[in-house]
Amino acid sequence: QRGGPKNLPIYEVQIDDNDSAKQKTKDKPKLVILGGGWGGVALLKELNPDDYHVTVISPSNYFLFTPMLPSATVGTLGIRSLVEPIRRIMARVQGHFIRARAEDVEFSHKLVEVSQADAAGNETRFYVPYDKLVIAVGSTTNPHGVKGLENCHFLKDIDDARAIRNRIIHNLELACLPTTSDDERKRLLSFVVSGGGPTGVEFAAELFDLLNEDLSHDFPRLLRNEISVHLIQSRSHILNTYDEAVSKYAEERFARDQVEVLTNSRVAEVKPDRIIFTQKDESGQVVHKELPMGFCLWSTGVSQTQLCQTLAVKLGAAQNNRHALETDTHLRVNGTPLGDVYAIGDCATVQNNVADHIVAFVRNLAWKHGKDPETLELHFSDWRNVAGEVKRRFPQAVGHLRRLDKLFEEFDKDHSGTLDFGELRELLKQIDSKLTSLPATAQRAHQQGQYLAHKFNKLARAAPGLRANDIREGDLDAAVYRAFEYKHLGSLAYIGNSAVFDLGEGRSLSGGLWAVYAWRSVYFAQSVSLRTRILMMMDWAKRGLFGRGESF
Ligand code: FAD
Ligand code: MG
Ligand code: MG
Ligand code: MG
Ligand code: MG
Repeated sequence: QRGGPKNLPIYEVQIDDNDSAKQKTKDKPKLVILGGGWGGVALLKELNPDDYHVTVISPSNYFLFTPMLPSATVGTLGIRSLVEPIRRIMARVQGHFIRARAEDVEFSHKLVEVSQADAAGNETRFYVPYDKLVIAVGSTTNPHGVKGLENCHFLKDIDDARAIRNRIIHNLELACLPTTSDDERKRLLSFVVSGGGPTGVEFAAELFDLLNEDLSHDFPRLLRNEISVHLIQSRSHILNTYDEAVSKYAEERFARDQVEVLTNSRVAEVKPDRIIFTQKDESGQVVHKELPMGFCLWSTGVSQTQLCQTLAVKLGAAQNNRHALETDTHLRVNGTPLGDVYAIGDCATVQNNVADHIVAFVRNLAWKHGKDPETLELHFSDWRNVAGEVKRRFPQAVGHLRRLDKLFEEFDKDHSGTLDFGELRELLKQIDSKLTSLPATAQRAHQQGQYLAHKFNKLARAAPGLRANDIREGDLDAAVYRAFEYKHLGSLAYIGNSAVFDLGEGRSLSGGLWAVYAWRSVYFAQSVSLRTRILMMMDWAKRGLFGRGESF
């Protein structure tokens, strides 16, 4: 059967008449999920079996446990431990998996256009029909228009992790050769990480541990002082979206470990053997610098996938964000027929008007303390409390509420030593203008996937009765289920045998071994299956007993 605007084949999943389990979903609404990452899998895990005819479309046939990917690059964890086959995850909902890439969506025909390449590279295209569509395709690496990125490694997938691991070992082996000159050896052993976000920081920490803990006996010829790890960050601090205490802890830790942190630095070009960058010094002067290197990891943020770019253009005026698909608070993609299309995870952003929320919130806060907002005069200690409350309510603002004293000074325009309501509102507005959206984390994707599952479960039960009540079809989900609300459960970063926790509300914790175990157990709990949990546990035990060398 062919059809749709491009007259492509329409792929209807065939259900075997003898497969009694799958027969149950035969006449159920078709739920199509694009992507088998954190968002898609969280949805699959919570969805009631039998209520929907589920199809997942994704170019990779496994779920990847990304928070552990930096550990896999240096052999702390085996790569197998980090992945779980999608087909296995889908078995519970009797779903179908199509290994292919979504290219476009025909919203008015309810068709997803899908492409699939065969072994010879020939591409075929076809349509997959849906009643409900969930877009959860994540993001791609952000190239930032820098020259020479072909000389860098990325860290997004297990193939990347494998390539990084091989490259590190190759460099070490070359460095050991008697024919390698001193300068060349230093270059081979100079490791550069570009990007001071959680991925870059965790990778640098893991790499440092590896070079220090295991290499001395595996590669006794290498001198510790010939190895160097450098982290290049464009902002003035690393982990700058975390609480100030967390990034300070990380910076001190790196300073002690001799991981060189180069802040206020912008990479201009990556050459095969060196990296060229500019650094702003204290006086604001820009200095040109270069660093010989044998390995560079590029981890400076993410950008929109091709599919989402295509869809955003197609939806035109309804979409105003260059970085993600905008949804309403029920996670329905703006500009699509109500209740047909949802987007979750890194590829999506919930349109919110934080400025208004914050101002209303501060008003309430004032009333709660028996004060008239218009006559409010906040001293610095009051401001600190307000900032704490704002951080709790709007976790995405944490990174912008770091230097509270500076902000206070800057916005106390009349130098009265207090902030009045007008001054406070200006301050909060400025912060709002910097807020992009919810954080691009597994935590958020997971919560959104769960939210949709619970809503879809409820819809499947409630729909017939409500339809009789004359509620417009598209508004059903808003009628039966609450809006999505993000709950910030804290951020974690692992830094060289210790972990730092950003618990939100300006609270943070850091510590040695106990923190590492706490960190691991959090990820254990989030981890998808017992199988994965056991594999990771064995990897860690192995590392404890034999060092990392075993996994190499
Ligand atoms: P993803 O999990 O990326 O899944 C996207 C899925 O869509 C994939 O299966 C992909 O194959 C598929 N896909 C892509 N294009 C298409 C298409 N056109 N059609 C169909 N399918 C498609 N977050 C944390 O909270 N804590 C951490 O410690 C942490 N560490 C991280 C470390 C690393 C190295 C990385 C890379 C990320 C880390 N993250 C962490 C971020 C976290 O992984 C993401 O926020 C999360 O994966 C987002 O989930 P998602 O479902 O939106 O996308
Ligand atoms: Mg996903
Ligand atoms: Mg993933
Ligand atoms: Mg990251
Ligand atoms: Mg004042």
